[in-house]
Amino acid sequence: MCNRRNESHDEHGPAVPDRREVLRAGAALVAAPLLVGVTARAQTPPAGNGPYATRACGATSAKSPLGPLQIQRRALGPNDVLLDLLYCGICHSDIHSDWGPTRYPVVPGHEIVGRVGAVGSKVTKFRVGDLGGVGCMVNSCGTCENCLADREQNCLNGTTFTYASEDRISGGQTFGGYSDKMVVTEKFVIGDTAQGRDQEAGTGTVC
Ligand SMILES: [Zn+2]
Ligand SMILES: [Zn+2]
Repeated sequence: MCNRRNESHDEHGPAVPDRREVLRAGAALVAAPLLVGVTARAQTPPAGNGPYATRACGATSAKSPLGPLQIQRRALGPNDVLLDLLYCGICHSDIHSDWGPTRYPVVPGHEIVGRVGAVGSKVTKFRVGDLGGVGCMVNSCGTCENCLADREQNCLNGTTFTYASEDRISGGQTFGGYSDKMVVTEKFVIGDTAQGRDQEAGTGTVC
């Protein structure tokens, strides 16, 4: 998915930060919440059904640097999975906003591996404690011709991308994986991601 546009990395206008600066900032910001997330999971009680106040790293405008943000994840619906995020890769499309015009504030990140912290009443694929991965999509209409043919990325009513998309369940917009928690419809959580393997390296497989 992330290779659908393969433009040169050097064609940015003056408003776009130098790529190396973004990489440096991203690496530092991504590392911090992961460490906290791992510690917090062992010490905090079960999360309940939300909504969940969540720490994130994002940008409030095209010219502002990545920085700490507070976002809210929706309350757990019957088909939702709460993920306590462990790792999130940095993809070139996070840096270049390859998904098209973005919405601010934006919290990027779509190569996500997390530990299931809670599940909705109708969830069948996951149990608390499982690992789950999330890629670039978190929802679609589920009823159109393409969705019924397992081509949710071509949903005729609009794929919900992992960040900077309209959240068709709660309203507002979606936020990506540079954050402590995510609530994602079960269908869009990939099971067995990095199970028994290197979880950090596993993030790239859900790009
Ligand atoms: Zn659809
Ligand atoms: Zn990617």
